Amino acid sequence: MITPRRFVSLLVLCTLSLAFAANTATAVEKLSVLLIDGQNNHNWRATTPILKAFLEKSGRFTVDVVTTPTAKKAPEAEWNQFRPAFAKYDVILSNYNGELWPASVQKDLEKYLADGGGMVVVHAANNAFPQWGEWNKMIGLGWRGNGFGERVTVDDAGNQVRTKKGKGPGAGHGPQHDFSIIVRDRKHPVMEGVPAEWLHAKDELYHGQRGPGLNMNILATAYSAKDKRGTETNEPMVWWIPYGKGRVFTTVMGHAAYSMTCVGFRTIVNRGCEWAATQKVTLPVPKNFPKADAVSVVKDGK
Ligand code: ZN
Repeated sequence: MITPRRFVSLLVLCTLSLAFAANTATAVEKLSVLLIDGQNNHNWRATTPILKAFLEKSGRFTVDVVTTPTAKKAPEAEWNQFRPAFAKYDVILSNYNGELWPASVQKDLEKYLADGGGMVVVHAANNAFPQWGEWNKMIGLGWRGNGFGERVTVDDAGNQVRTKKGKGPGAGHGPQHDFSIIVRDRKHPVMEGVPAEWLHAKDELYHGQRGPGLNMNILATAYSAKDKRGTETNEPMVWWIPYGKGRVFTTVMGHAAYSMTCVGFRTIVNRGCEWAATQKVTLPVPKNFPKADAVSVVKDGK
């Protein structure tokens, strides 16, 4: 028989169990990110802590950072210490643009993605590894000369336009400025709820990216204007490519710490990491997201 006192005890027990379950569920839902840095022609020592901080602040991620040998031509013994355990992580985030990784690390990343893993590539990380064929397939387009491969842009109707190897400009950018991002696939989970057009804070507007450019799903572009020494076309800013059972999400935004103060950039990286890991997005578009005619930046630099 359940006495009133026993009933209260049971109620307390149930409540505690539910609270415990809720806490456990929250903990389980955090996604693990492996952020890779160590060499870059950009200030990775400044940008890695920013990326890590805003990912963690979203409440959705835990972030481990692994740093390659930082000196050029580091001894092999140092490179032997760089063996990231990709398979332990839900998503890989590259902030690396430097010497080629050891062959075994290349193979590990290829296997991780082929088996269903996710990777996010930010800004100059797409400049890395022209000599690594599988990497070029993963990123689709990279910072390469026009003789390297094809170029993919988007016409005003939203159709992809391919330019042959050797024709048109290779990789470059004009002076940094605020520029408009045009969302090209508003149904993709990362872009759902994001304004069709929004103003990104001061950054380099990459143009003429080259590569195999196969299976490109272009999610957003920016118009590269003539008065900014641009190409007068819509250049891809955010895209993703399937790789085996996995997926690689690239944004060429994010030149410097000040570019990363953009709420739009942070939203795209946060949601891109979540989507690359799970193929779903639960992180909301924040209320202070940039508008078509106004940037929105966080002041704390974090
Ligand atoms: Zn840059």
